[in-house]
Amino acid sequence: MAVERTLAIIKPDAVENNHIGAIIKRIEEAGFSIRTLKLVQLSKKEAEGFYAVHRGRPFFEELTAFMSSGPCIPLVLEKENAVASWRHVIGATNPAEADEGTIRKDFAESLGRNAVHGSDSVENGEIEAHYFFPEHEIVANS
Ligand code: ADP
Ligand code: MG
Repeated sequence: MAVERTLAIIKPDAVENNHIGAIIKRIEEAGFSIRTLKLVQLSKKEAEGFYAVHRGRPFFEELTAFMSSGPCIPLVLEKENAVASWRHVIGATNPAEADEGTIRKDFAESLGRNAVHGSDSVENGEIEAHYFFPEHEIVANS
């Protein structure tokens, strides 16, 4: 299997609820290499840009208001099969439907405030990583 990158975000609800450490522990235990991370607060416009694919959906306003409501932590994760693997670790979008032991099952508040983000394809993983980090800030594999 190919080594891939994916973009994770510890969302504002999880930062506010003091779950940063627990979520990073899950990332490490699942065997991901953290290539870079930072704490940022998105502007409304930046949140709209990140989620541009969802513009026009009924939840777009709620989603972008939430994502710009407080600090969040984007991280670039690397591993074999990272995109699918991270989505497996985080669980279904709606925590009510997420499997036992997934991050969203354990830490999400609701469908909207669901603790973490994960890219949905290798291509989007690269695009999303570069939404937050220029290539030179992504630490090389060693
Ligand atoms: P995922 O984050 O699992 O890839 P989507 O890409 O479908 O899910 O949606 C992006 C984010 O928008 C979700 O993680 C969630 O925070 C929010 N969201 C999705 N659907 C809804 C909804 N029906 N109501 C409120 N928020 C939603
Ligand atoms: Mg998505």
